[in-house]
Amino acid sequence: MTNSADQLKKDLDALCLVFAGKLAGKISRIENSWAGIEQGKWDTEVFHDLHRQVHSLAGAGATFGFSRLSDTARTLERLLLQVADESGMPLSAEQREQVAASLGAMVQAALEPDQERGVGASPSLPATLSPDPMDTGGPRLVFLVDGDISPAHGLSQKISYFGYQVQVFSGLEALKAGLAQACPAAIIMDHAAFPGDDTGCADAVAEVRRLCAIPVPVLFVSSRSDLPARLEAVRAGCSAYFTKPVDVGRVIDKLDALTTRRPPEAYRVLVVDDSISLGAFHAHILECAGMETQTIDNPMRALDKMTEFRPDLVLMDVYMPECSGLELAAVIRQQEEFVGIPIVFLSVEDDLDRQLFAMKLGGDDFLHKPIQPEHLVSSVTSRVERSRALRSLMVRDSLTGLLNHTTIMEQLEIQVGRSQRLGGSLSFAMLDIDHFKMVNDAYGHPVGDRVLKSLSRLLRQRLRETDFIGRYGGEEFAVILNDTDGPAAVKVLDQIRDDFSRLRYLAESGEFSVTLSCGVAAFPLYADAGKLNDAADKALYEAKRAGRNRLVLAPG
Ligand code: GH3
Ligand code: MG
Ligand code: MG
Repeated sequence: MTNSADQLKKDLDALCLVFAGKLAGKISRIENSWAGIEQGKWDTEVFHDLHRQVHSLAGAGATFGFSRLSDTARTLERLLLQVADESGMPLSAEQREQVAASLGAMVQAALEPDQERGVGASPSLPATLSPDPMDTGGPRLVFLVDGDISPAHGLSQKISYFGYQVQVFSGLEALKAGLAQACPAAIIMDHAAFPGDDTGCADAVAEVRRLCAIPVPVLFVSSRSDLPARLEAVRAGCSAYFTKPVDVGRVIDKLDALTTRRPPEAYRVLVVDDSISLGAFHAHILECAGMETQTIDNPMRALDKMTEFRPDLVLMDVYMPECSGLELAAVIRQQEEFVGIPIVFLSVEDDLDRQLFAMKLGGDDFLHKPIQPEHLVSSVTSRVERSRALRSLMVRDSLTGLLNHTTIMEQLEIQVGRSQRLGGSLSFAMLDIDHFKMVNDAYGHPVGDRVLKSLSRLLRQRLRETDFIGRYGGEEFAVILNDTDGPAAVKVLDQIRDDFSRLRYLAESGEFSVTLSCGVAAFPLYADAGKLNDAADKALYEAKRAGRNRLVLAPG
């Protein structure tokens, strides 16, 4: 087991101990609730509270490895529901006897030493819960194998413009030496670097697989486009195949897709459970899988917490005091801003009708307690992935994946507000591709689209996580640089402008390049979103007028 999995196991064991420590208190509360009813004093509230406590003990007992306690609590819970349904109140003498006997069995199970329960019995953990060791956050290393070094260096330079660090090798032997030094995020192999029989590339890929501890994607570049050549590459296990001359844009698309291993932002999960130890337990499992969590034990605080924490998903217990999980789901669904947030119930509930009712009220899934950590992680992950994808359709531009016009302008308002509160600086820039109409006219619309994607990728790779990048419209882009004054923004953006002008694109009629113009305005000199937008637009116009391929900072 990895260190982090070891640590998780220790933490979970500690949570089991906390639960064990509180068990006597929980049992005595249940006994107290029952005492009044047993003596014939009927109180509906007390009866419901008794049911809820027993239900919670059944769930928590199972989760923390107290299996006998959990089983007896579930038997008692069913009996309580049954007698409540059967006779109305108060309970008959016979019913009271039945409940007392069932409660006695549960208390017995809680007090008996049980080999299966407690420390060491917390669920086993999959190794996949440990953080990905590959994700170092630095530039991603790519190995390029090409017998013909000079064009390879051309390709390597083009790839390096997109935030990859490229090392070039002349053949298999050199590659093997390279692999002994470092493990790349991907390997690009030129068919021509492996002359001789048809299996040269396959052997090379097999060798790579042997030398790398983790599977590294291999991309093929070849002058052949026939099926046998492609088949050989597929059989060798390559992840992509490009014919020469290589369209760098497509290679970058593929590299991005193959080497981006985790979403840039951790998934945020709000855990709502009146049992503090169970809430902490589930939150801890999700955090070990790299998610961010917040836990509340009072459902009445849920709406405030949702506004503040902006969770991607709510994981919720069904039975809670004051407001049940089902009611809370219905309330959440009535608020427009939370409509898209998945709600997953976690409960010992096994009655299908009740589960369906929960779904009707706005739940998205029903997970059964106790749940294995890997099941919890995978259910939450797939729900969040899907809801983020749907949300992204609403706020992102489909061609470039950048924020759409409405969203980037909303962000400008939000970020200016933030800078006003914190007294910080901020820069806003508008970028417009020069003579883009001519690119479309000369090379066709699809090639124009590739240029747009290429600029969006360059921006994403050069700017920080805290910056915001949007497609303002057509071939215009907008950028918000947080905590950046005018001169600093000019430095960063002018470098991007210069690098963009060096990119080469491939069209049927040959290679070409494109330039852009940029206008920048800085807060607090321009004091609100409207003024920043106007000033950046004017500066952009100025850059165009002065001859294009340049940047202008709005004057003070
Ligand atoms: P300038 O240097 O003055 O900015 O000249 P320009 O040709 O870039 O400006 P103009 O506004 O005249 O033309 C913009 C062009 O961008 C026209 C339009 O067809 C093209 N365009 C807008 N959106 C897209 C798109 O999504 N894909 C492609 N390929 N072209 C687009
Ligand atoms: Mg333009
Ligand atoms: Mg334009």
